[in-house]
Amino acid sequence: AKRIVIKVGTSTLTHDNGKLNLQAIDQLCYTLSGLVNEGKEIVLVSSGAIGVGLGLLRLHERPASIPEQQAVASVGQTQLMTVYQQRFSVYGQKIGQILLTHDVVDYPISRQNVLNTFENLLRLNIIPIVNENDAVAVDELDHHTRFGDNDQLSAIVARAIDADLLIMLSDIDGFYDKNPRKCDDAVLIERVTEISEETFKRAGGRGTKLGTGGMITKLKAAEIMLKAKKAMLLANGENPSIIFKLLDGTALGTLFK
Ligand code: ADP
Repeated sequence: AKRIVIKVGTSTLTHDNGKLNLQAIDQLCYTLSGLVNEGKEIVLVSSGAIGVGLGLLRLHERPASIPEQQAVASVGQTQLMTVYQQRFSVYGQKIGQILLTHDVVDYPISRQNVLNTFENLLRLNIIPIVNENDAVAVDELDHHTRFGDNDQLSAIVARAIDADLLIMLSDIDGFYDKNPRKCDDAVLIERVTEISEETFKRAGGRGTKLGTGGMITKLKAAEIMLKAKKAMLLANGENPSIIFKLLDGTALGTLFK
């Protein structure tokens, strides 16, 4: 795989108390910079803005209203990018920020513009860091302008830029036959070739307090990838350097292909 989209969840980027997990972020930046040096084209879809914003503003949970959440995301987004900028620069890696709303992908002219931006960043060996533009997405039109979560956003981006592979890092080793947080006897499924209603029934409940999607949105992302005849790998992002091992086949997750 030459062009790879990597999605990291809040659970990978933050500790349980909402503080940034700087070790994990540093390892992620080291790993992705290494991949670019190997000649790969890397796009990072990063959650975490709201989590980071909550920590900075010393809030213990997401505020109730969407405008308040958007304000928190606005604070968190700049902090998150500052940390990425610092860590990536240690490895000589340049980054660019792309904040997307649904209309960017839906309207052909804006879509073409943003695709051109991706192409030019990648040509220059720059890693685009993508997030939903939380401060702009309009709440009354929720489903029109919002992607809902970065799981599906990462698949939409991967499809749009014709990436070969989407790697989704989460707080779990992969997709199990039932929710492993609730059932001790859950078994990891190493390969999924199609997604049916049965598949969705195996995914139950959201994971962490700060993460949003849970397994359902990851399956929806996998659905988008499979429909586009592309692959998605779901794996544990606790140590982001696992990406090296995932790519050379020495670490396992769930391969949707
Ligand atoms: P992230 O913040 O990394 O996006 P989430 O917490 O949103 O991660 O989603 C991962 C969680 O989904 C797991 O920790 C687990 O609690 C839950 N889950 C539900 N069903 C399953 C399943 N069948 N296999 C694996 N995880 C599952």
